[in-house]
Amino acid sequence: MKYISILGSTGSIGTQTLDVVREHDDELKVCAITGNNNIELLREQIIEFSPMLCCVMNEEKASALKNILPSNVKTEIMSGMDGLIAAAEYEKSEIIVTAVSGMIGLKPTVAAIKKGKTIALANKETLVTGGDYIMNLARQYHAPILPVDSEHSAIFQSLMANDKKSINKIVLTASGGPFRGKNTDFLKNVKVEDALKHPNWSMGKKITIDSATLMNKGLEVIEAKFLFDVEPEQIEVVVHPQSIIHSGVEFCDHSTIAQLGLPDMRVPIQFALFYPKRLNNSYKSLSLSEIGNLTFEKPDMEVFKCLRLAFDSLREGGTMPAVLNASNEVCVSLFLDKKISFLEIGDLNEKIMNMHKKEKIESIETILSAEEWTKRTINSLLKN
Ligand code: NDP
Ligand code: MG
Repeated sequence: MKYISILGSTGSIGTQTLDVVREHDDELKVCAITGNNNIELLREQIIEFSPMLCCVMNEEKASALKNILPSNVKTEIMSGMDGLIAAAEYEKSEIIVTAVSGMIGLKPTVAAIKKGKTIALANKETLVTGGDYIMNLARQYHAPILPVDSEHSAIFQSLMANDKKSINKIVLTASGGPFRGKNTDFLKNVKVEDALKHPNWSMGKKITIDSATLMNKGLEVIEAKFLFDVEPEQIEVVVHPQSIIHSGVEFCDHSTIAQLGLPDMRVPIQFALFYPKRLNNSYKSLSLSEIGNLTFEKPDMEVFKCLRLAFDSLREGGTMPAVLNASNEVCVSLFLDKKISFLEIGDLNEKIMNMHKKEKIESIETILSAEEWTKRTINSLLKN
């Protein structure tokens, strides 16, 4: 039996992780789950999976959850960051699935690393903002980081049984999102509803908007740089609209190994939970003859400037990727609230990066104060 905690069990990755648990319920036991607002779903999950601990980030909702639970439920209910950290550090849990969205995932992930837990990392923001600091911490505490993000899982799988020192480049595939091939004139007028329609993946709102701006691919470039210890110049982004090749690695002998599969996040989630074992499941098999064509294009980094900004932030280093990420989190929520336009997401991100004086990341506090600075600066820019 493997014991796991799921941070963000009510989200897209969280619910798909629970699907994997259903598929392998003789091998996986859920010890702790967490959510923010969706207490109806947390109630169902508690009844189905009987975790020992459940954290509801929102304090009022945590009390409300207690009131709607059947009286025989023994699950301890906590709230706030203390609860999130308790779920991350839960003694019996060996694997922590980090499936919350945004920088909120940083502190609990650090807490889990310090307990030597295995991190099944979906929350890319942790590596984007923490970079080398997180990777060094994981080495220091012998906490393996296993990627859940489909591209990074593909790269990880392509590297298995290969010499990591012989990487020529990483080939990071991107679907191109709902606005692939569009120009700036078109993008000026796109609405929230248009940006939320992803062609291949069904995901949380934040990452769906990031897929439309290509910021998601940018964050994945940063994630890949730190996870696989390569230079930004060694990462090539390729638009591949069918999302069948999930990414790959070219080695120094010019042989490329990639991982293929239908777009189904349960596959990389299962891989991270059972690594290095491969287990049977009931998911659909890939038929290349049914798919027919796999096509590839260069991304347009002028129109989709968020992708370029991600590369720029890596060249700057220090707190710059964290600032880009924090700025983007604010901008995406402003866009979802219809307060800024689609193109203003990239423009504001660029402005903030230009204003930021990067610092070396010495501790988690450096990252959090860069986040604070970013939020303050965007607020004052918007007021003027
Ligand atoms: P969702 O928006 O679907 O889910 C987010 C989860 O985090 C929910 O459980 C939500 O709770 C919880 N949450 C949100 N805000 C807070 C907060 N302030 N404090 C505590 N918990 C919070 O996101 P996704 O599942 O799509 O993405 C999760 C992470 O995985 C992201 O980092 C994303 O980049 C990454 N990822 C996602 C992929 C996907 O296919 N979805 C693919 C690869 C990576 P509630 O619902 O109760 O409000
Ligand atoms: Mg991805």
